[in-house]
Amino acid sequence: MPKSPLKELKHTKLRRAVIETCLKMNALGINQGTSGNASVRTKEGFLITPSGVPYEETAPEQIVAMTLEGEVHSDWRPSSEWRMHRDIYAARPDAQAVVHTHAVHATALSCLRLEVPAFHYMIAVAGGSNLRCANYATFGSEALSQNMLKALEGRRACLLANHGMICFGPSLEKALWLAGEVETLCRQYIAAKQLGEPTLLSQAEMKRVLALFENYGKQDKAAS
Ligand code: 13P
Ligand code: ZN
Repeated sequence: MPKSPLKELKHTKLRRAVIETCLKMNALGINQGTSGNASVRTKEGFLITPSGVPYEETAPEQIVAMTLEGEVHSDWRPSSEWRMHRDIYAARPDAQAVVHTHAVHATALSCLRLEVPAFHYMIAVAGGSNLRCANYATFGSEALSQNMLKALEGRRACLLANHGMICFGPSLEKALWLAGEVETLCRQYIAAKQLGEPTLLSQAEMKRVLALFENYGKQDKAAS
């Protein structure tokens, strides 16, 4: 009896998880249509969404396997933003998953090419005391990826000028969670700016917050 092609497919669970992440990203309202993309690291490289395929119609075999050298092991074309994903995996050993979205509020700020300062302590989720905005370059270009890497120095999220946002995390779930947090922060910042000029937290206070974030959410096993 012929084997089902799915049985021969490597990383079937991870492929499904990538699709699930994209479906959730749209359901959460932080992305729309075929905009955005997601990927997860594997021992061979990474798995990334195919370019321009609606997430509801994406099958596990359409998720594209790539190496960190940029080789494609699939009949499907990878996301046009594969360079940003590849460059994050190459530059940041802590990155296990990458999520890129065109979330409305993050994108609105990116169109003004604004960075988000320490108007709220939660800005620390991005890894520092601000959320930077990468300089503009054409989508899918190497220049965009270079600009992104600069904006991501010491950070795990950034805005992309006239485009959207990108972030990474230790898992697909955590990367998606961070994308939602970034969009919420951008929404809150826009709301605050509409009322006046927000009071920014000092560098000393952000240092305290960043230190607290080292242990935030880590529950003592004895207490659970
Ligand atoms: P892809 O469908 O090629 O991933 O493109 C979506 C996108 O957001 C490009 O920046
Ligand atoms: Zn995009």
